[in-house]
Amino acid sequence: WVNDGGMDTSALLESVPTGLWIGGQERAAASTFNVLDPSDDQVLVAVSDATAEDATAALDAACAVQAEWAATPPRKRGEILRSVFETITDRADDIATLMTLEMGKVVAESKGEVTYGAEFFRWFAEEAVRIDGRYTPSPAGNGRILVTKQPVGPCYAITPWNFPLAMGTRKMGPAFAAGCTMIVKPAQETPLTMLLLAKLMDEAGLPKGVLSVLPTSNPGAVSEALIDDGRLRKLTFTGSTGVGKALVKQSADKLLRTSMELGGNAPFVVFDDADVDAAVDGAILAKMRNGGEACTAANRFHVANAVREEFTEKLVKRMSEFTLGKGLDESATLGPLINAKQVATVTELVSDAVSRGATVAVGGVAPGGPGHFYPATVLTDVPADARILKEEVFGPVAPIAGFDTEEEGIAAANDTEYGLAAYVYTQSLDRALRVAEGVQSGMVGVNRGVISDAAAPFGGIKESGFGREGGTEGIEEYLDTKYIAFTR
Ligand code: NAD
Repeated sequence: WVNDGGMDTSALLESVPTGLWIGGQERAAASTFNVLDPSDDQVLVAVSDATAEDATAALDAACAVQAEWAATPPRKRGEILRSVFETITDRADDIATLMTLEMGKVVAESKGEVTYGAEFFRWFAEEAVRIDGRYTPSPAGNGRILVTKQPVGPCYAITPWNFPLAMGTRKMGPAFAAGCTMIVKPAQETPLTMLLLAKLMDEAGLPKGVLSVLPTSNPGAVSEALIDDGRLRKLTFTGSTGVGKALVKQSADKLLRTSMELGGNAPFVVFDDADVDAAVDGAILAKMRNGGEACTAANRFHVANAVREEFTEKLVKRMSEFTLGKGLDESATLGPLINAKQVATVTELVSDAVSRGATVAVGGVAPGGPGHFYPATVLTDVPADARILKEEVFGPVAPIAGFDTEEEGIAAANDTEYGLAAYVYTQSLDRALRVAEGVQSGMVGVNRGVISDAAAPFGGIKESGFGREGGTEGIEEYLDTKYIAFTR
């Protein structure tokens, strides 16, 4: 199979495991499902389709090695993670190509994700040896308080299709550093990157059973089998808010520890004292990174009326420079969306805004034909009741609305049930701090359009979920605190 970029990807596809990855081995399931290339809907490969029984087998494998992995010296765990980081870095081009094949984004974006995704292994390799505790006298003086951390135990991770590598490594890095085992269920659309990673991690020395990967077309059945099994101790989920809420309810029966990285509706607020050129640069990154299919993507642009015309004109010019095309074609700067449903959602949100009075300044029409393409689009004069200001568009559409005072800017930013990321542009330090503190979100970018960093705590508030991934905070999600009381 030769793509438009002229690269033969058949050898790469043949090197990817297509069975279930259980206990460090590939295992064929009774049936398979197809993985498609979103740029033309061609079948890339068929992969094994995990069932509830397979899920139980993966948990058996995890439980069999959990105690030994927890007892492995932290330095050793860290060295294995460091070796995984190096393996991924060595194989970055292959992983990026595979990711583009199954997910669609342009290969430069995939390479960026490989760098970001690998970083969680380097960061948590360093954190594995810094799991601390404390020893203090009790206030009465007759006792000693010893506090130590222990791995939570077997974990289950469910990941979305938009970042096929990094949404998994953000969970695996801290889990393995803490001494937990993990079963990963990648999104049905993009299981290949995770299957290749499992093989690479095995080669890099991760003990068998510590990681299992279960591609499936039936996430409900696989998840239920694991969540209802008393041996599982933690569920970590990245995906939509609706599915996240259902999983939290399901997890209540066994009182699992849960981390929820859910949907977003990030505001990008440009104040009248902003450097408009810098704001446009930031807007392109915040909007167009990953083709707009990011939970942190700027979903709506609230721009002070004093600079709105200048910002709009410059943003429209930059957005009109994107070239749609297959992700492996190096002349393309914007790949396809993941599937037809996603194109339909974007189209519907744009039509709704236009029917309420918004104007399409550039883009706005899906080209049709093979693949699921949608062009870079800017909507101006978007009214407050447009659905696109309330719902996650998950595509390359930038709706712009105006405001006058700082209070109005903050109020517009907070007018959502979500609270993941927010972006603020101003040259005033006072205002930056005021607004950053006033915006209801887990993360705020001040004069920058990209905020993700393995060394920083990533996560949301409100209906964007709870729990943090990355930073020194990330490992806590995989540790239980134990208090040991001594008499002295
Ligand atoms: P989704 O919720 O449909 O799917 C996510 C995962 O959940 C997939 O693996 C899917 O197979 C699985 N799933 C679906 N139904 C399930 C069920 N009943 N039981 C168990 N698992 C089930 O979301 P999506 O469309 O794949 O991903 C996009 C969403 O993810 C967006 O809302 C985006 O904002 C969010 N996201 C959030 C973050 C974050 O860190 N906060 C990061 C990336 C994406």
